[in-house]
Amino acid sequence: MTEIDQHPLFPALDEAVRSGLPTAISDLGSLVRIPSVSWDGFDPAHVVASADAIRGLVEGLGVFDSVQVSTAPIDGDRHGHPAVLATRAARNGRPTILLYAHHDVQPPGKDEDWESAPFEPTVRGDRLYGRGAADDKAGVMAHIAALRAFVDTVGPDFDLGLAVFIEGEEEFGSRSFANFITQHRDELAADVIVVADSDNWDVDTPSLTVALRGMVAFKLTVSTLAHASHSGMFGGAAPDAMLAMIRLLSTFHAEDGSVAVDGMASRDAATPEYSEDRLAEEAALLPGVRPVGRGSVLSRMWNQPAITITGVDAPTVEQASNTLLPTVTVKVSARVAPGQSASSAFEAIERHIAANAPFGATVTIDDVDLGNPFLVDTTGWAVAEAEDAMRQAWGRPAMETGIGGSIPFISELVDVFPQAQILVTGVEDPDSRAHSPNESLHLGVFRRAILTEAVLLAKLEDRA
Ligand SMILES: [Zn+2]
Repeated sequence: MTEIDQHPLFPALDEAVRSGLPTAISDLGSLVRIPSVSWDGFDPAHVVASADAIRGLVEGLGVFDSVQVSTAPIDGDRHGHPAVLATRAARNGRPTILLYAHHDVQPPGKDEDWESAPFEPTVRGDRLYGRGAADDKAGVMAHIAALRAFVDTVGPDFDLGLAVFIEGEEEFGSRSFANFITQHRDELAADVIVVADSDNWDVDTPSLTVALRGMVAFKLTVSTLAHASHSGMFGGAAPDAMLAMIRLLSTFHAEDGSVAVDGMASRDAATPEYSEDRLAEEAALLPGVRPVGRGSVLSRMWNQPAITITGVDAPTVEQASNTLLPTVTVKVSARVAPGQSASSAFEAIERHIAANAPFGATVTIDDVDLGNPFLVDTTGWAVAEAEDAMRQAWGRPAMETGIGGSIPFISELVDVFPQAQILVTGVEDPDSRAHSPNESLHLGVFRRAILTEAVLLAKLEDRA
């Protein structure tokens, strides 16, 4: 292995992270036990409880000027879920670093799909299982454990400015996020923002996420008849809405499954080697099923658009009668390549739908949800510092990666704090199964992610 230049405090930070790891895992387990699902229809008291628990952990560090739990309005009287916000002013010209993660989680789905109960943290092998064990309570605990190791090593009298922002509704659209950061603009202002909510190339190789796709989601309704009719009587002459919908949806993709909507852009950028076999394994393709799209596999997920139909409102098979359906609704969920705005991608899809509605069908679009893609400026000093910290903590170079998923609030952060350098890091790996049953955290990845951030804090403390 090649020699790696280490920070002078690296051995002490490494030791502090190792000795603090059992406590970090047990604190993470306590957070996983709180079912802080932020979706409507789930008890919001759990999200309040998890914010309070995190406030306790942050206060326990003893280095912040202020620690608060706070909400912001969504619109009018409705407020979002509580976030934890802690700040410590920079001294002697040192930079300020903002550490972001979220403490709310996705719904667990069906208990029987889990090998151990979703809110009962369970270690099997080198992984901790539970809803939120990775996404993103491990991100929360990585920040706290890194701060503990940093403070253990340098003492409480350091100059680095700190802000910690632990959001409570990332999994439900960050609905009050824009208002929250506007209200707390001064407290959140930072030179470097670490968003610990992404993944790593594999359990041995760290990643800095530098490209994120955006998203466009909406409801699409196709209507062809004023009322349902007997399918034996009129079928073959009167067009039913399902036929029209199928015809319309089939125009979204070319024969090979790539998106065929004029005006949805792709980004031209190199991607690391990633085989169709690895895709088949990680995405669980059934035997004989072939990947869709064209170009390198990762360019399809990182740099090209995608369109997926994620729901259909139509009679169930059991309820199906011999009827021509007058109207059908689907949920369209599209991903937008980095470099194109979500609104321009949406306009392209809208034009495509208007031009391809078959049989003169009536087509309506509602509930449009847009999130912009994001490209990190990788030329800033913070990216270099973070990649060097990863190299030290993992013992191998970091990869700059894209992700197919979207974190729309990042572009909102950039709008409010255009000077800040954004680092998208994470505690996940390809087996984490965030949002799915049997979500888990690799404990080796967790330790290396904590150490990376502790080293980064030490490096920033050195910057005058
Ligand atoms: Zn997340």
